[in-house]
Amino acid sequence: MIVILGAGESGIGAALLAKKKGLIAFVSDQGTIKPSFQKELVDNEIDFESEGHHIIFDFVPEYVVKSPGIPDHSDIVKFYQHKGIKIISEVEFAYQFVNGIIIAITGSNGKTTTTNLIYHLLNQAGRNVIKCGNVGYSFARAVSQQDWEIYVLELSSFQLDGIDQFRPNIAVLLNITPDHLDRYNNSLDEYAASKFRIFENQKSEDYAIYYSKDSVIQSKLKTFHINASSIEVDPLLSTIGTLSDHQETLANLSTTVLRGKHNAINATCSIRAVQLLDLDPDRIQTGLNSFVNDPHRLELIAEVNQIKFINDSKATNVDSVFYALDSIERDIVWIVGGLDKGNDYSVILALVKERVKSIIALGKDNTKLISYFSKTGIPIADTHSMEDAVQKSFELAAFQDTVLLSPACASFDLFQNYEHRGNCFREEVLKRLNK
Ligand code: ADP
Repeated sequence: MIVILGAGESGIGAALLAKKKGLIAFVSDQGTIKPSFQKELVDNEIDFESEGHHIIFDFVPEYVVKSPGIPDHSDIVKFYQHKGIKIISEVEFAYQFVNGIIIAITGSNGKTTTTNLIYHLLNQAGRNVIKCGNVGYSFARAVSQQDWEIYVLELSSFQLDGIDQFRPNIAVLLNITPDHLDRYNNSLDEYAASKFRIFENQKSEDYAIYYSKDSVIQSKLKTFHINASSIEVDPLLSTIGTLSDHQETLANLSTTVLRGKHNAINATCSIRAVQLLDLDPDRIQTGLNSFVNDPHRLELIAEVNQIKFINDSKATNVDSVFYALDSIERDIVWIVGGLDKGNDYSVILALVKERVKSIIALGKDNTKLISYFSKTGIPIADTHSMEDAVQKSFELAAFQDTVLLSPACASFDLFQNYEHRGNCFREEVLKRLNK
C-alpha cells in the first residue's frame, strides 16, 4: 500500500492512477478536501482522511507520493524521512507508467503559453495528445486516463524538485529570472539548479530546447552538461511579423495573437518542439493562426476611441512586465502593484521612462512603488481598489493610449488570486464602457 499526501489535483490524479494500476492507496490531507475530489475518491473506492494526518500513522506504506504544494520541511514529510520511507513526487510516480512521448516545459515565465501552444499545434494536426502538469489535469490523472501518444507537460520548479528518474524526450527551458526565491534560500543559483533538473536524466537521443540569450541559462551552462541534443533558440521577429531562428524562416506571427518578443521566444521553442515530431510548416502556420491563449496574459479586454485596455494580471514578476511594456508602442497608463516579492524595478526603469505616461499604483501598501518611481517624474496615483484604479485610468487615458494592468506583484493583498484580479479589472472596465 502507498500513502498519497495532499488531495488537490495532483493527489487525486495519483490516487486514480494508483487504483488503475492495482495499487492500494490511502490519501491524507492536512486541510479540507474539495467536494468534487471527495466524490471521485468515494466513487473509486479509495480510502482517505482530511483535516489532518491521523490514520496514516497506523501503518507503514511501501512508499509515499507527495503533492508539490507540501514543503519538504513539513512535519509529515520529516516523519517519513525519519522512518526511512521513500518519498516520491506525483510527477515521478506518474512517470513510471508512461509509454508515450513527453514534452516537458519549464521556465520562470511563459510556461502556460508555451504548453498551450505546443498542445494546440499538435492537437490541430490530429495527434493523440494531452496537456497536463501545472495546467489543467495533473500528469498522473492524464496517465490514468489512457495511453496518450504525446504528453505536453508544464512543470514548475517545485515539481522538478521532486523528480528522480523522470526523463522527458523533449525538454523546453524558456528563461530563468528571479521568482519564488523564498523557497530556494533566496539563491538564484539554487532556483536555476532546480529548473535545470528538467535536463538531468536526459540521454543523447533526447532533445533539450532552450532560449540561448537568457543570461542565467548561459551562466548555468558553463557548469552543467546537457546529454541530450541541444537546440538553442534565438529568434528574430521582423517588423512585419516574420519569425526566424538561426536564419531559418519559421512562421509569420502577424496573423496570430502572439505579440511581443516574449511570444516570439515561446513560439520558436514550440515550433522547434513540434518540428521534432514531424509537423510541416503549413500545419504549423495553420495552428499558429488559430491559437487562442488563456486569459490574463496580455489579453485585450476592449478598445474604445482607440484606447486599448489590456489585462496582463498573470504578470506577477518584473520580467514579465518588461516584455509587456516592450510589446506596446503607444503611451501606456500602467496599473501596477500588489504583494511585492522583493522586486528589483531597475530592470524596467528605462522602459518605463520611455513608454509609460502615468502610473496607477494598486495595492494595500504602495509605498515602495511610489518612492521608487517618483524619481522618474511620471505622475503616480495611489489607489487601493480595482474600482478606483480603473476609474483613474479612464480619467488619465487619452486617444491612442493603452491602459495596461501588468502588476509585477502577487495579488493576495487585495484579491484571491491573479484570475480574480484580472476578472475585477475586466468587470470594472466593461462596467464603465457600458454606462
Ligand atoms: P507561466 O505559466 O510561466 O506563469 P504564462 O504563459 O502564464 O507563464 O505567462 C505569465 C506572464 O508572463 C504573462 O504576463 C505573460 O505575458 C508573460 N510571459 C509569457 N511568456 C514570457 C516569456 N517567454 N518571457 C517573459 N515573460 C513572458
